Amino acid sequence: MGRELDKLLEGGAAPPYCQSCYMPMDLPGKFGTELDGVLSEEYCTHCYQAGEFTTEQTLDEAIEANIMYWKSQIESDDTARERMMKIFPHLKRWKKQ
Ligand SMILES: [Zn+2]
Repeated sequence: MGRELDKLLEGGAAPPYCQSCYMPMDLPGKFGTELDGVLSEEYCTHCYQAGEFTTEQTLDEAIEANIMYWKSQIESDDTARERMMKIFPHLKRWKKQ
């Protein structure tokens, strides 16, 4: 784990959010990895491994795949999806689509 990440996580600043699924990366184990094994500062371990995304997804597919993690018990899929639609299109991975 690099010094930069150490500092980032120790500093008490808000953790970086995965730029694919918006999961907060607040532990070293939650970071994805680059091809050379260095931890990615932009993507989480579920989305990004060894320099590549773990799944080929469109923005819509990513939202559908993550709804279950975003939805509270009293929410419908639609409510969760609406919330995600405000965030996901701004994440680095989806911006260009
Ligand atoms: Zn992710």
